[in-house]
Amino acid sequence: MITRMSELFLRTLRDDPADAEVPSHKLLIRAGYVRPIAPGLYSWLPLGLRVLRKIEKIVREEMVAIGGQEILFPALLPKAPYETTNRWTEYGDGVFRLKDRRDNDYMLGPTHEEFFTLTVKGEYSSYKDFPLTLFQIQTKYRDEARPRAGILRGREFIMKDSYSFDIDEGGLKTAYHSHREAYQNMFARMAIRYVIVSAVSGAMGGSASEEFLAESEIGEDTFVRCLQSGYAANVEAVTTAVPDAIPFEGLPEPTVHDTGDTPTIATLVDWANSAGLGREITAADTLKNVLLKVRQPGGDWELLAIGVPGDREVDDKRLGAALEPAEYAMLDDADFARNPFLKKGYIGPKALLANGVRYLVDPRVVDGSAWITGADETGKHVVGLVAGRDFVADGTIEAAEVRDGDPSPDGAGPLVSARGIEIGHIFQLGRKYTDAFTADVLGEDGKPVRLTMGSYGVGVSRLVAVIAEQHHDGLGLRWPSSVAPFDVHVVIANKDPEARTGAEELAAALDRLGLDVLLDDRTASPGVKFKDAELLGVPWIVVVGRGWADGVVELRNRFSGETRTVSIDDAATAVVAALAEPQP
Ligand code: ATP
Ligand code: MG
Repeated sequence: MITRMSELFLRTLRDDPADAEVPSHKLLIRAGYVRPIAPGLYSWLPLGLRVLRKIEKIVREEMVAIGGQEILFPALLPKAPYETTNRWTEYGDGVFRLKDRRDNDYMLGPTHEEFFTLTVKGEYSSYKDFPLTLFQIQTKYRDEARPRAGILRGREFIMKDSYSFDIDEGGLKTAYHSHREAYQNMFARMAIRYVIVSAVSGAMGGSASEEFLAESEIGEDTFVRCLQSGYAANVEAVTTAVPDAIPFEGLPEPTVHDTGDTPTIATLVDWANSAGLGREITAADTLKNVLLKVRQPGGDWELLAIGVPGDREVDDKRLGAALEPAEYAMLDDADFARNPFLKKGYIGPKALLANGVRYLVDPRVVDGSAWITGADETGKHVVGLVAGRDFVADGTIEAAEVRDGDPSPDGAGPLVSARGIEIGHIFQLGRKYTDAFTADVLGEDGKPVRLTMGSYGVGVSRLVAVIAEQHHDGLGLRWPSSVAPFDVHVVIANKDPEARTGAEELAAALDRLGLDVLLDDRTASPGVKFKDAELLGVPWIVVVGRGWADGVVELRNRFSGETRTVSIDDAATAVVAALAEPQP
């Protein structure tokens, strides 16, 4: 097909839009791919829609390749099933809610677990019907608190969501692994640089949930990686490399000291270095006890103390993941007043354990490690308190921050942090929804079997921005061939009527070879046309310019900047050959 720029519904912009923060957003607007409608809402113009459709096609092909069957649910969904799972309430402000003329409640679907489960329950009744994988490529709605970076985080966006249904764990694992491979294939086809990170806390273990993160400095997700081994994980999932235990033998007895006004780690370290302890003390020698209250779902608030080396903060995300599903809060002044044994700034393991406060420590607090910590009296600390000898904690917790340079859990080298954008998520959901809807089928032995599910998402519209984010330069977009809006961009940069006709003929020849051709047949100056070609980012640009008189055209690669001169007669075959080359 030939698309003429003289007719194409497109206006490129010279300047960056005022409100755009990230490169992909600026370029997609400037190049006329999308237009803003309201916060988090965008319209797709012809070029953007072409890229979106190509991405959808790749996603669909890879889903079909693993046996997925495509269906399509409405976006407008009735309340009742969401009440069954309690998500009508749980979503809070996160969803769009509306009423019909009879005052019935609806929501615009943020995700569709409920309806997939109900649909399978409605159609299938025997173990013989499984395994089953269903998917849709569908518009989702979420009233995101911070719609951001254009189509990267929209309030309306397109997601591929799929769900696997199996009668046993083995089936679920198989479905999970085939999704994992399908995702690897689709993202490779789109030339995306990404990592797969374990998304669950180390405590839960396994690979029951993994996220695919596209590497990007503007990403909202932080992850850590080990460059030596390729290990990558969400900060929540990192397990601490535990030092060896130290024999108690010969360790001095703990001693209590008057430390004056030393309620912070910094003041305590200053005191320790002026107290003549015989060695240089750092914050890492102190044990900081952080007090929280924790509530299990449906339970009461309980105290929890967390002991971490004083040079580390407790990381909110890691703490949340480690305590999940419990909620937690820091202690306020009233809580301290109610528990007078807690001497703020001087809390030690002794009073915690003596008063029945659950006490969890960082895994670095191994048996035999000696600490400077609170002595449970204002103005007093204890030196040389040995873990496992002088106190025994109730367990360990992965809540301390992970830092660049920390050893990788696989022992291969140091961890470094990086940022990413979530492009996909695979998750062994289990029976959460099949329990809620009693989705049972008849098993081989004639007894009912509860189905087990996996849930798998890909941010289809987000991918347009992610690819733009990873593939652009100062001049504009640089699409990988697999998702480019056109295969080749023919620029007529010569006023000579013969050259014009020649360019038309070349475009027709490329079209006959099955390529999607963008033909810049406008009357604009060559300079304007070149700028637009660079901005639009089609991977191969053919320039029919001055060389025409000498029987040649120019073939430019938007990725590498490389330019080739080819004879007019060979131009069409040269383009086809170039398109078949691997992209740099
Ligand atoms: P995020 O942490 O980025 O909000 P999520 O955990 O809410 O993502 P899922 O519910 O797993 O995401 O949705 C599946 C996929 O849909 C995500 O991996 C992401 O690529 C995409 N996605 C989620 N929210 C948005 C959004 N607001 N705009 C565009 N794509 C989104
Ligand atoms: Mg989200």
